Amino acid sequence: MPLPPPPDHEDLDPRDWPDARAQAHRMLDDLFDHLERLREGPVWRPIPEQVRQAVRQPLPRRPTPLAQVHEEFMRLVLPYSVGNLHPGFMGWVHGGGNVAGMLGEMLAAGLNANLGGRDQMPVELERQILRWLAPLFGMSGQAGGLFVTGSSMANFMAVLVARSAALGSEVRNKGLACARRQLAGYASTAVHGCVVRAMEMAGMGSEALRLVPVDGEGRMDLAALAAAVAGDRSAGRQPFLVVGTAGTVDTGAVDDLEGIADLAAEHRLWFHVDGAYGALALLAPALAPRLAGIRRADSVALDFHKWGQVPYDAGYFLARDGELQRRTFASEAAYLRRSDRGLAAGTPWPCDLGPDLSRGFRALKVWFTLKVHGTDRLGEIIGHTCELARYLQDRVLQEPRLELLAPAHLNIVCFRLRGDDSGRRSAEAVTRLHESGLAAPSTTVLGGRLAIRAAIVNHRTQPRDIDRLLDALLPDLA
Ligand SMILES: *Cc1c(COP(=O)(O)O)cnc(C)c1O
Repeated sequence: MPLPPPPDHEDLDPRDWPDARAQAHRMLDDLFDHLERLREGPVWRPIPEQVRQAVRQPLPRRPTPLAQVHEEFMRLVLPYSVGNLHPGFMGWVHGGGNVAGMLGEMLAAGLNANLGGRDQMPVELERQILRWLAPLFGMSGQAGGLFVTGSSMANFMAVLVARSAALGSEVRNKGLACARRQLAGYASTAVHGCVVRAMEMAGMGSEALRLVPVDGEGRMDLAALAAAVAGDRSAGRQPFLVVGTAGTVDTGAVDDLEGIADLAAEHRLWFHVDGAYGALALLAPALAPRLAGIRRADSVALDFHKWGQVPYDAGYFLARDGELQRRTFASEAAYLRRSDRGLAAGTPWPCDLGPDLSRGFRALKVWFTLKVHGTDRLGEIIGHTCELARYLQDRVLQEPRLELLAPAHLNIVCFRLRGDDSGRRSAEAVTRLHESGLAAPSTTVLGGRLAIRAAIVNHRTQPRDIDRLLDALLPDLA
């Protein structure tokens, strides 16, 4: 029987390689133009209704030329993103990204590597990140680590590994039914909401996480922690986990990590540190001593995509006992069989160390960022953002129309329009700032008071951007 004739074009590769190559260079150039001229544009601009409508097209059944899709991207998407690349962006805790990381991500996309496992250099590179990170966090070669989407996932993993430490591997088959006593975990009232949700997702329920009050500096009150642990013990519950925060999301407070480590050791609790944005302050010599206790943690969650300036997403989970991490997640499957040689060598695989099987090559953009800039430079930038926060704090303190609501522990300043008890004027001022495109702080609520919150994370932010924020804010008060 004759073979069927080959179809016109049977795969998805370009038919005209030189043309595709030229188009790819144009796309890269457009992005470089955007980065080079960031300062000239607004931080953010509202999305016009016709732009929203323009993407609501039917499912494309027929091909569209790459150049045309790129043109739509330039017109409909690029101008209307959040603005966290811009030096005037100070909302939430968003990283600014960096060109080396972006190019690393581009190469990773080109390789299309799946880092679930197998014997390949991309997995070796991810292991190298662990070899770099573990000593920084006072951990040995026994440590386990894994890239995940972000600290929301890393904190969830921490709760699961701590649960294994408390209940043994049996919890994987039997669930919480194997616990003889009810488990209790601890974190401060300033803990990130994802830790609460992690307790929900782990089946323990959010009420099993005791929220310990904070002191005037926003740090967990250790006497209250000790009392809560003692109370749970005498009520027949099993304290198993304490979560310290290195850089709270509201005000950037750093818990007394040494004190928590002592208490955790005394009461045999798993000591996890949510260092989502703050942990990398270890790279800044002036800040590192304040985080010293993080080097005693059993596990750490951190994000390279915040202060590390790596493009999204690049969260990381680090555990002192890598074997316990493996026992928490690894499972056998015939189609994932290992061998000593060939592609199926190199066990354990990343898929043994966390919930994901197929995983992208996040390690590459991190590797590029760390190598191209060096950790000294990244540490200097982290230190600089904290100096900018102190500069903003000084200006707020000097300005009678403003009122400081929380001191700049690290890189976050919270303030409001003086006497704005309802918070309405401050919230409106922030919205108007966003719409002006001049600066983009966000808001939070501290002790029932609405705060304008400026988190300086971006490596591009300079004193003039702080000035611009206040100059744009203050005319509102006239
Ligand atoms: C950002 C943040 C998180 C959540 O991390 P994601 O990477 O957004 O999932 C958790 N805790 C703190 C303190 C954070 O700043």
